[in-house]
Amino acid sequence: MPDDVTTLAPITYRVAMPEPATHEFEVEMRVPALPERDTAEIVFPTWAPGSYLVRDFVRHVFRLTVTDGRGQALARERLDKQRWRIRTGGRPFVVRYRVFAFEASVRTSFLDDSHGYWNGTSMFFHMAGELARPCRVTVVPPARSGWRVATALPRARGGYAAADFDDLVDAPFEIGTHETRSFAVGRTKFELALYGRCNADTARLVDILRRIVVATGNMFERHGGFPFDRYLFIVHALPVGSGGLEHRASVTMDIAGLSFEDEAGYKRFADLAAHEFFHAWNVKRIRDAALARFDYTQENYTRLLWLFEGFTDYLAHIIMLRAGVTQPRDFFRMIAEDWPKFATRPGRNETPLDELSFEAWIKQYKPSDNFINRAVSYYEKGLWTGMALDLELRLATGGRRGLPEMFRWIWERFGRAGRPVDETTVRDAAAAMAGRRLDRFFDRYVRGTDDLPLPALWRRAGLKVAPRAEWDESAKPPADRDRARARRARAWTGIALHPERTLVRNVIPDSPAWRAGITFSDDIVAVDGARVNPLTFAKRVGDRDPGDRVRIAYFRRDLLREATLTLAESPERALSVDADARANKRAAAARTGWLGQGRGA
Ligand SMILES: [Zn+2]
Repeated sequence: MPDDVTTLAPITYRVAMPEPATHEFEVEMRVPALPERDTAEIVFPTWAPGSYLVRDFVRHVFRLTVTDGRGQALARERLDKQRWRIRTGGRPFVVRYRVFAFEASVRTSFLDDSHGYWNGTSMFFHMAGELARPCRVTVVPPARSGWRVATALPRARGGYAAADFDDLVDAPFEIGTHETRSFAVGRTKFELALYGRCNADTARLVDILRRIVVATGNMFERHGGFPFDRYLFIVHALPVGSGGLEHRASVTMDIAGLSFEDEAGYKRFADLAAHEFFHAWNVKRIRDAALARFDYTQENYTRLLWLFEGFTDYLAHIIMLRAGVTQPRDFFRMIAEDWPKFATRPGRNETPLDELSFEAWIKQYKPSDNFINRAVSYYEKGLWTGMALDLELRLATGGRRGLPEMFRWIWERFGRAGRPVDETTVRDAAAAMAGRRLDRFFDRYVRGTDDLPLPALWRRAGLKVAPRAEWDESAKPPADRDRARARRARAWTGIALHPERTLVRNVIPDSPAWRAGITFSDDIVAVDGARVNPLTFAKRVGDRDPGDRVRIAYFRRDLLREATLTLAESPERALSVDADARANKRAAAARTGWLGQGRGA
């Protein structure tokens, strides 16, 4: 095996799509002569970095042929589901195959008569042991389609150049008639490739991206600037969905294209864009040893997804505030709406955050029916843990330093230098910010399962936070027309239904329904003899009071059953969150540092 494959002739890929209606890309991979080797192994990736699930992309590969330079078939042996050994005799060889591309997601590939898209790990074989070999890609759009190509890879000789396989599969391709926009911040160029039907004002989307890019750049660099010359936002406007996949110099974001009739659509877009753009540093450059060198053939275990995803989720809200895309009242509303959901999740303190990260491959991405009761997403818990750490830092420093400054510290000492981080790095960074060790924080909330102390931290940082039962009229008398609805929220079964169906998605342990034996996938048909649908189920239950007995009829598989349960009072409480005008000086300073100069009050 050669010592340094980076100086070798590149592997070239050609991707054609002559029949988009088949949803099949035609891929040709040309491997130059490897005179020192009698055989070569080609390997298809099994997962997409950024999405921690074994996806077996090779299941979409068809019509595989391997020939020498003259078109003669070469002997090959399949070694496992994703690996072939080819008898090359040291000669150059050509691998041809088709990829069925019909999964519209940021992690996969898709082709139809409207566009083509791929995320590289679902498209390209690599040579075993030669991930560092340079790559070239040429793209052949359908004849007379007028389709254009958008990718973060630089152009080279009629195609695109990648330094190595990591680089190749870290640059998704969008091919079609997408709308394009561009803007510059300093010397860095940003591009938007927008595919699909979208009712947003595109100029406003570009304005949001520009604000987010500037606010994030300022977080990491004292004088702005970015660790790339060019960055591409590929945005797919689809009927539903919101999701993104981060790359070093680009991102793919799936948005609900027709959701921009009000401000909420723009705020969701900003939230997703801020999360993904923060990843250009956090996880793509600030990363641990497990994610610094990918093994594409199996799980790559990391204990830091709470840092890479949860803290990113949290800081997206801070970025939006600093970008002026949202105001403190939006931030307070997020706390008011999302904290009660988290605080009543039965599974939130079952497993330490670092363990939730480690087992992402088999839990988060393959949730079992009882996930809500026995686990929690490291995104969700990581967000609140990030907020708690930010507040600890602000309180320790009179508001001067917090999580953004901690990330700059990590970036300057590790990410920028290409040094991998680990939990100790984060502990050291937090200590450098606070001026004292905060190991107890990490022991309790990252390694341990103690309840996050956010309500107390909010109070100390100058917020007025009050839980309020929706039906509690003394706190805030509802208008008459809302009175009945508010009252209905009081009686509680512990059942959560699937959206749009009467199928039981979850039953809270020890709730009335749990004690009455109702379980996952029971199909509820009636409450007290009256037929219900997903909308009327909650109403029929809400007609009754805590302590009342109700009969619930349901199908378990094909058998009709009935349970009688005694309703309880709902444990769910809404929050009201606001800046506390009477906060003391210390609290006000922490709050100002946290939410921005003069914007805290
Ligand atoms: Zn993310």
